[in-house]
Amino acid sequence: MSKVGIITGAGSGLGQATAVQLAEQGVNIAVVDIDEEGGRETVEKVNKAGAEAIFVKADVAKLEEVKNYVNETVNQWGQIDYFFNNAGISGSGGYFLDTDPEEIEKIVQINLMGALYGVRYVAEVMIENGGGAIVNTSSSAGVIGQDSVVTYSATKHGIVGLTKSMVAEYAKDGLRVNAIAPGPTETPMVKSYFEANPKMKESAEKGIPQQRLGTPEEVAELVTFLLTSKADYINGEVVRIDGGFTNTKA
Ligand code: NAD
Repeated sequence: MSKVGIITGAGSGLGQATAVQLAEQGVNIAVVDIDEEGGRETVEKVNKAGAEAIFVKADVAKLEEVKNYVNETVNQWGQIDYFFNNAGISGSGGYFLDTDPEEIEKIVQINLMGALYGVRYVAEVMIENGGGAIVNTSSSAGVIGQDSVVTYSATKHGIVGLTKSMVAEYAKDGLRVNAIAPGPTETPMVKSYFEANPKMKESAEKGIPQQRLGTPEEVAELVTFLLTSKADYINGEVVRIDGGFTNTKA
């Protein structure tokens, strides 16, 4: 029987690239995104790659919408094997003391609450069915401190805690939970952030030992590996994929 994966933030960037690579391995995908147009585009790409897909529109910050994407997936295929818990926003950047409290709340709601809600309801289904694999999206800013992204960094450090603690509680139930910590990667999110903060792009490239940004496809390769059975004894890891960036700082 085909495996089934849920990907949040699947309408763009890392989520879309991973949807395509999993589909190429025959995995059926629940494409979850707040953006309908991007979501529909990913469904088409998954179908082209030879797998089934459904689109479930959801704001991951809203508990009822999280429960709904889990239910829709189970109604469609009866199982969840893989979960790429990935939807997130960067916020507008800038110094923390200049940040609007509403923006702080929004970033926490989407990046952290959205990820916690997702794991809460997906893991329940996985464990009932004997187990599954989860990859949570952290960031370089989740393993080191960085200026201009204090709230974002706080949420991405939270993702690391979620990942490690879930393993402590549920590895014995067949759950594998890992996190990825990408450095700056050329997705629409980063392109728009760097357009708004051009100096950041220059300094980002200079600060990366490999002197370039990552690509969504490179990150998707890692996520696909971590989700599938080839990584069966890897659990609770935070895997950095950043051209050596945090290696020079941590
Ligand atoms: P992206 O903007 O290309 O894609 C993010 C997707 O998430 C979009 O389709 C967007 O519509 C969706 N989304 C946003 N808010 C949502 C919500 N409330 N509910 C449901 N969907 C929502 O960005 P990306 O670069 O692919 O980012 C994916 C993840 O990777 C994020 O968690 C981001 O923090 C993380 N990340 C990205 C980079 C990078 O350099 N691109 C580096 C480290 C971590």
